[in-house]
Amino acid sequence: MQKSLLTVIDAHVHCGEIDRSLPQSFEDYQNHAAGTEIDGAAVFSPVLEIYDRYDAEFTDTPAWRLRRKESNAYLLGLESDELSLFPYFFIWNDFAVDQLTPAHCGIKWHRHAGEPVYRYDDPDCPAALEEIRRRNLPVVLEEEFDNTLHFVRDLADGITVIIPHLGLLNGGFQAIAEAGLWELENVWADTALAAPDEIRDYLRRYGHRRLLFGSDFPFGSPSNELRNVYSLELDPEVEAAVLGGNFMRLQEARK
Ligand SMILES: [Zn+2]
Repeated sequence: MQKSLLTVIDAHVHCGEIDRSLPQSFEDYQNHAAGTEIDGAAVFSPVLEIYDRYDAEFTDTPAWRLRRKESNAYLLGLESDELSLFPYFFIWNDFAVDQLTPAHCGIKWHRHAGEPVYRYDDPDCPAALEEIRRRNLPVVLEEEFDNTLHFVRDLADGITVIIPHLGLLNGGFQAIAEAGLWELENVWADTALAAPDEIRDYLRRYGHRRLLFGSDFPFGSPSNELRNVYSLELDPEVEAAVLGGNFMRLQEARK
């Protein structure tokens, strides 16, 4: 198979131009991806455009709601000749699913320990998940370990959950393995910043059908992360699935 015929989709890209603490506009990403085989990207807002991650007591304001709305809207307006784009909606704890449009290809759900919490007990939370389920949108879920378990076991019935970084920031690959999540049909993973040994381990134990290549730009470098996958020297069929085939299958299933 010729490499040029393969689809390579980066399933984990943060882009925005409100938060300027890092070079992370779409143009920045495109410059990084140029010269690689990457021909598509799932794009989400930078965390700092969605909430103040450095303030655990953070309370929402109209200004932040507007910032979120603008940040999410920026992604819908992107156009590129080089890359196919798959905008994801970064949801926060006001569960603003009324902003979802048919152009949205997934949901980003993100929180680390010490950051303001998602209000799982709010009735708007299950209502939002119902809408996500109805639209058949995959959810990239980065959360603390206990919340990851709660989400997958109690909330995500019928929803595809993508755990990024092979679980690195969701309690770790092994903890998630021991909890039995990786073998669930609706639990997927991405390779962003994951250790090569864990990618190999994952593929050996759970197969190659639910693993997505991702870079976590701007925290990861698209070219380095891609090289990381090539360096595993996977079977061509497996490599093609991880680099883009699985992503396209997931998006096809949405329709
Ligand atoms: Zn991310």
